[in-house]
Order: sequence, then C-alpha cells, then structure tokens
Amino acid sequence: MGGAQTRLPETADGAEGRARAVLRSVFGFHEFRGPQADIISHVVAGGDALVLMPTGGGKSLCYQIPALVRSGVAVVVSPLIALMRDQVESLRQLGVRAACLNSTVDWREAEGIERAVAAGALDLLYVAPERLVTSRCLDLFDRSQLALFALDEAHCVSQWGHDFRPEYLQLSLLHERYPAVPRLALTATADQRTRADIIRQLGLEQARVFITSFDRPNITYRVTVKDNPRQQLLTFLRDRHPGDAGIVYCMSRNKVDDTAAWLAGQGRAALPYHAGLPAATRVAHQDRFLRAEGVVMVATIAFGMGIDKPDVRFVAHLDLPKSLEAYYQETGRAGRDGTPADAWMAYGMADVVVLRQLLDASPASDAHKHAERAKLEALLGYCETPRCRRQTLLGYFGETLAEPCGNCDTCLDPVAMWDASVPAQMALAAIYRTGQRFGAGHLIDVLRGEAGEKVLRFGHDRIKTFGVGAARSKREWQGLYRQLIALGLVSVDSETHGFRLTEAAWPVMKGQQPLSLRRDPQAATTRALRGDRERRPRGMAEIAAAVPSAAIKEADAELFEGLRAVRAELAREQGVPAYVIFHDSTLREMAARRPTDRAGFAELSGVGGSKLERYAEMFLAALRRLEGR
Ligand code: ADP
Ligand code: ZN
Repeated sequence: MGGAQTRLPETADGAEGRARAVLRSVFGFHEFRGPQADIISHVVAGGDALVLMPTGGGKSLCYQIPALVRSGVAVVVSPLIALMRDQVESLRQLGVRAACLNSTVDWREAEGIERAVAAGALDLLYVAPERLVTSRCLDLFDRSQLALFALDEAHCVSQWGHDFRPEYLQLSLLHERYPAVPRLALTATADQRTRADIIRQLGLEQARVFITSFDRPNITYRVTVKDNPRQQLLTFLRDRHPGDAGIVYCMSRNKVDDTAAWLAGQGRAALPYHAGLPAATRVAHQDRFLRAEGVVMVATIAFGMGIDKPDVRFVAHLDLPKSLEAYYQETGRAGRDGTPADAWMAYGMADVVVLRQLLDASPASDAHKHAERAKLEALLGYCETPRCRRQTLLGYFGETLAEPCGNCDTCLDPVAMWDASVPAQMALAAIYRTGQRFGAGHLIDVLRGEAGEKVLRFGHDRIKTFGVGAARSKREWQGLYRQLIALGLVSVDSETHGFRLTEAAWPVMKGQQPLSLRRDPQAATTRALRGDRERRPRGMAEIAAAVPSAAIKEADAELFEGLRAVRAELAREQGVPAYVIFHDSTLREMAARRPTDRAGFAELSGVGGSKLERYAEMFLAALRRLEGR
C-alpha cells in the first residue's frame, strides 16, 4: 500500500471510486480525461490493455493510478533513461513512493531500491528494458508483489518505426513468467502496422485496445511561405513567444549552429543541439532546456525523442520534415500540458524543388518506393493545401474531422483562390520556349523582360514570352512556379535542376484547362500573427473551458511571470525542473483565480495533498506580495 493511499477517504467504494479519490487527493485533478477512467478500471481489475493516445493525452495516469490502487509495486519499462529521474521526482513531489533502476544508478543505491521493492515499500519502479531482462531483476520480481507492468513507448518493439529497440522483443517473457500480473502497453504511434506488431510481439492478443483521437486541439498549425525565413522566425518568436521555451528544427548541423548563434545575437536564450556536438555539450544543453525557463533549442532531428517537457510552447521548422509522420511527431512535442502552443513552419520554392526531385527520382514500381512517394506527396499536399491543416493532417492518419478546426492558419485566415490560368500559361510557355532546361531564376528574368547577360547569351530576349509577365513581381512568379511544381505540372531535373513540363502541363499551357491557385497569404499571415493573441479561435473553446485561464489577461500575465519566478527559485533550490513543482497550467490558473487561502489553493488543478503541504504557504504569500495586498 502506498503512502499516498493512506489519504484515501473511507467513503470511496469500489475500484472506480478509489481511482477517482487518488486522482483528486494525489494528483489534484478534478476529472479523468477521455478514456482514462475506463482504462484504469480495466487495469485495476487485472486486465491487459493497449493504449494508443497522442502525446500529451495523459497516458501516465493510466498506469500511475492503478499502481496506487492495486497492491504491490508497479513496474514501468521505458527506454528513456534520461527522463526517469525527472519522472521519479515528479511522483515524489506528489508524495508517491517511486524509484528507478538503470545504468545511471550506482550499485549502492540500486541495492537500497531492490530492498524496498522486495519489502513492498515502493509504489512505482521505472526500469530500463535491458535491466529488466537480467536474472538479477527477474529474481527480485519473483520475490516481490507486483501490481502491474506498464510498457511505455511500446512502439519500440516494432521494426517498422525508427525507434526500434531489440530489448523490447524480450519483454514477451513477462507474460510467460508472470501470467497473473496485468500488462499495459502505451504508445503515441498509431499506425496499423506498428499496432499489429505490438500486439503480436508482446502477446497482447487478449488485451483491450483503447484508441483516442490523435488530434491535438491546443496546437495551432501554421505554414508560411519563406521570404527571409530567419527574420520570419524572429517575428514569430517576438510576437507569439517572447519568453517561452520551444524547439526550432533545421535540416543540417551547420544551419543549427548558425541559427542558434544568430538567435542568441538577437537576445534569445538559444542553444544548438545536433549529433556533431560532444556528448557532454549535448547533455548540458538538453539539461538547460529542461530546467531553465524560456530556452530555445535549435536542433536537428537528433533532438526530441523522449523529451516530455510539458511546457514547450512552440515547435518551428525552418526546413521541411521527412514526412507528415515525422512532422506530427516533432510538432507533437509542443503543448503537452494542454495549453495553447504553436507548430510553425516556413517552406519555399527550394524545399518544394527538393521534394519534387526526390519524388521523380523514386521509381513507382517497387512497393516500398511507392509508399515513399505517397509520403512525399502527402507532405507537399499539406504545405500547399488551401483547406484546414488539421483536417488534412488527421485525414492522412485516417481520422475524419467533420468541421474545419478554427485553429490553424488556413482557418484563421482563409486562403483566397485566384484564376491563374493566364499567368500559368505564360510560366509554362517560358519553360517550353527556352528548351526545358532552366530553373526559376532565369525563367522569371525572361518573363519579366530583364535582359541580363545570361538571357542575352541564349537569345532569350527574342522569344515570344520575353517580357510578357513584367506586371508581376519576382516573388509572385516564384510562388506560381512553386505551386506548379507542387501540383505536378512541372518536374525538376535531378542533375541540371532545369524545369520540365509534365503531361499534365499541356492542357493548361494550351488554355484548354483553367487553373485555380491559392494566393500566398504573405502579408496577411504576419498580420494574423500579431492579432490573434486576443482573438480566440473557435477550436479553442473546449480548451478554454478546461483551463478557464487560457485566455491570458494582461494583469494575469504579469502575475504569471511573478509566479514563474517563485517556481524557478524553488526548482533551483531542489535541483529539479520547474515543471516538476507546478505545470504552467497550474500557475496560469493560480494567476487567474488568485486564491487567498489554503482551501482556495487546494481547488487548483494540479494541487494534490502533497503539493498543498509543500507549496501553499509560499505561493499564497507570493500572491499577496505580487498583488500588493
Ligand atoms: P502522455 O504521456 O500521454 O504524453 P502525460 O501523461 O504526460 O501525457 O500527460 C500530459 C499532461 O496532461 C500532463 O501535464 C498531465 O499532468 C496532464 N493530465 C493528464 N491527465 C489529466 C487529468 N485527468 N486532468 C488534468 N490534467 C491531466
Ligand atoms: Zn483548421
């Protein structure tokens, strides 16, 4: 029986009542989210389960509460060793008896933990998979009472994903060795193949499967056409995230280094992270990102796996991700705490050209290549869509969102379509008449009638298309070519990078088929970024209801900053990440409700019995001081 359980009210009857009591008294939450209650009842009753929920969906409670309600120790298997200490610390702050066993724990400490497990003095034990399968560990479990096994990041058992961990295959032995102990596999990876793999490899055929929507309603998706991307990034950060933590993804190590240095020069706490940095530097940077407030991590995709910092307020892409799957995983690191967050991406002609070349270079015959092509097409389609981004994204993952979301750039600033038939004819004719071997720069010079050295050398000032497009700016022509490539009317030679016409281009060039394109919302986007801090998008109503303080009033925002400083000081004293003390969502609610006594403080979401004892006085005093009461 856990220390936390001693606080259970006597009136709570039945497993569900006990689970609800733990939710309130230990975690300080008022209600279960989505299927949490069902999952917890099922596991408490001894059933196996496979839980598929997006990042931030609330998977941890699904095993943490059964761990406290069932007797014995719950064993949590996770490959994310770097996070275990913070997870354990978060639980200890809640008064839960937790520990971890992995390669970072020295033998003396490990022995103490093993004794506690055998004596039934622990509620939760986090173990690395390679540790779990050792005979020492299994012997220990043989001697102990086990509440359940939680297999976190269960997709690591699948060879299809990029996180494959061979040790995970051995986890099937748990079932054979401890048939009476319920098992709970959890993952945020939802695709069919991975799901089937998890069930087969872990012998979970009898398990109940719980799937929730993969939508992340608190994330605002935005895709911007590149036009001085660094400056666009800076504007985005200044307007939307002046003091927030976030991640900026770049493709190459050089670009990571340059961008981080540049942002630092602009006064942001920005750090680089990529596989080319010494291990010690990477650890130090990751640590600062997790522990300090407002750090911007500029990184390659080497960064992010298992970063469960809840208050990452934005994820920005300065280069295209590999696929929509990767995009969803990377942007999913924003806003795990459920409060508003941004996924922002800048892309341009060059990105589209690279994608199109990859696409055209891959033969469609072989099944694997075919799948790769479909992935690239989907990514390109997402960038260029005039529809709701969220509908496009979820649709790709096989989920239907009935209405446009109201919380993405195309919903907030509906894309205007225009009849591009005539300019498209000109743009295609320019390709044709110059011999289908030049790129955008030269073609645009021809269209605009700019008789530079190269144009003269090839005699392109004498062709029919020369100067027909002088009325449009260079940027407009670039946007047009980008969309023609994205639509597959133009292909790009992988060696010469010259543009060519595809079959689909002919009817448009001959004027037989009209072409309607999206107007690049350049100026509009910048305006929207400034304006909609106040404007509440429709899709946010639900979130705002869940977190009444989501609409940050100015005064609350100031108070919030003050409370953040108090939290930072506490975190520093204890050597733990700030979110372990309180999540941003709790501080926001505190700033909005301004409790004046312990009873009011206990009402806040995220304040359970243990945190009430530890922190109520301190934050109540801070509130009085900050409000000048
Ligand atoms: P996941 O592991 O699925 O990514 P977490 O378990 O980390 O998600 O939960 C995400 C966030 O939601 C955390 O900040 C957690 O405290 C919060 N949370 C989870 N369940 C609830 C609930 N029932 N009520 C309020 N907050 C919750
Ligand atoms: Zn939308």
